[in-house]
Amino acid sequence: MTTASPFGLQDRVAVITGGSSGIGLATARLMLNAGARVAICGRDGARLEAAAATLVRDAGNDRLLAQRCDVLDGDAVASLADAVARRLGAADILVNNAGQGRVSTFADTTDAAWREELDLKFFSIVRPTRAFLPQLQRSDAGAIVCVNSLLARQPEPHMVATSAARAGVLNLVRSLATELAPQHVRVNAVLIGLVESGQWRRRFETQAAPGESWEAWTAALAARKGIPLGRLGRPEEAANAITFLASPLASYTTGTFIDVSGGHSRHV
Ligand code: NDP
Repeated sequence: MTTASPFGLQDRVAVITGGSSGIGLATARLMLNAGARVAICGRDGARLEAAAATLVRDAGNDRLLAQRCDVLDGDAVASLADAVARRLGAADILVNNAGQGRVSTFADTTDAAWREELDLKFFSIVRPTRAFLPQLQRSDAGAIVCVNSLLARQPEPHMVATSAARAGVLNLVRSLATELAPQHVRVNAVLIGLVESGQWRRRFETQAAPGESWEAWTAALAARKGIPLGRLGRPEEAANAITFLASPLASYTTGTFIDVSGGHSRHV
C-alpha cells in the first residue's frame, strides 16, 4: 500500500541491483511503499520471482519490474536499462547493491580470487552506472547510492580482498560524486557493518552448532565482534539509510556515506 511519503519518492523510478534478497529487497519494499516505481534484478530466476511475488502483494504489478540480470554482464545490464525506460520510465535513482563478501586471508587468496573480487566490487558499480547514467542525467533528482561495507575503512584480515576492494569503492564514490555533480547526479554510499541477510543465513547454515538457533548464533556473533548495539542490523535499517540518500531529502549531500554498523566503526 502507498502511504504519504516523507521521502519525496512518489512516482520516482528506482533501480535496485540485487533486489531479490536482504538489503536490496528491503530497499525495494520501502521505496515501493513510498510511492516509487521500482526495478530489481538478480541472477537466480527463482529467487527473483519469489521476491517479486512478495513485493507485488503490497504494491501491485504495475510499479514493479523484476528482470534477471548479472550486473557483471554488460549486455544484460544494457537490456535492463532499456526495459526500465520502456516499462517504468527513465530512472531517477540507481542503487548499486548487488554482490557478496569473500572470506579469505592473504595466504589463501589466489590471483584468480583477487581478480574475481576486484571485478565484482568495481564492475558491479561501473556497468550499471554507465548504463543508467543517460537516464539519471535527465532527472531533476538523479541519485546513485552504492552499498559499501565498513571494511572499506576498517579492514578485516579474514576478508582481505573484500576489504581492499571496498576501500577502492569508497574512493570511486568520491570521484563519481565530483564528476557527476555538474550533471546534478548525486553519488553516496552506505557503509554496512553486519546486517542480517541471505549471506549471513548461508553462513549460519554451514557454521552453526547442531541445534543452535539463528537468534543465539547472531547474538554470539555480535558479542564476538564487539558491536556496541549488541546485535546485527536488520535489512530494513540499511534500507532506511539507502532510501534517505537516494531521495530528494538528501538533495545537498553528495560524495559521502552513512555508517550503518551499530557503532562498530572505531573512526571519529
Ligand atoms: P544477500 O545475499 O541477501 O543479497 C545479495 C543480492 O545481490 C541478491 O539479490 C543476489 O541475487 C544479488 N547478486 C549477487 N551477485 C549479483 C550479480 N553478479 N548480479 C546481480 N545480482 C547479484 O546479501 P546482502 O543483502 O547482505 O548484500 C547486499 C550488499 O550489501 C552486497 O553488496 C554485500 O556485499 C553488502 N554488504 C552486506 C553486509 C552484510 O552484513 N549483510 C556487510 C557489508 C556489505 P542472486 O544471487 O540471485 O544474483
